[in-house]
Amino acid sequence: MEDPVEINRRIGRLVRRVRRRDDYGKLLARGDVVRSVADVEDPDGWRAEIKRQARSDRIKVRTGQTGARLWAFVHGPIQEAQQAENDRYFRLLDEIKTRADRHGHSVKVALHDGEEVVVKCEGCAALGYGDAAAGPLIGGAAIEEDCPDPAPPDATGAGWPAS
Ligand SMILES: [Zn+2]
Repeated sequence: MEDPVEINRRIGRLVRRVRRRDDYGKLLARGDVVRSVADVEDPDGWRAEIKRQARSDRIKVRTGQTGARLWAFVHGPIQEAQQAENDRYFRLLDEIKTRADRHGHSVKVALHDGEEVVVKCEGCAALGYGDAAAGPLIGGAAIEEDCPDPAPPDATGAGWPAS
């Protein structure tokens, strides 16, 4: 069993990083992000941070300022490294869902960043955590303990014997 304190520490760290990376996340999800200069404490710092994160993900970006708007957009295709990371992430998610199912949890992704994910059980709110780049490392109550409050079967009755 993974150490619950370590799992909680990793979840906290991921939450803080995702909040900080919000604009970069939008850039990755949509291909561009635009902010009002008035909303950003340090416009040069904002652009530098976007570029730094893009470099570490091997993604090319352009950033700039036009009037009162700061902008960044992805320039060129997402690289192979990014594709490999995505593949590892989806394999990790598969493993997490399989393990959570075994304990009666019904988990959904609550937070995802790079190769790390936090899932939450819709029945009992237990958390699970995985990091594809660390083994993978997978742990948390939603992965390792039985669900005390399994969610009722969904309205379609999928997976349940016909009555
Ligand atoms: Zn549960």
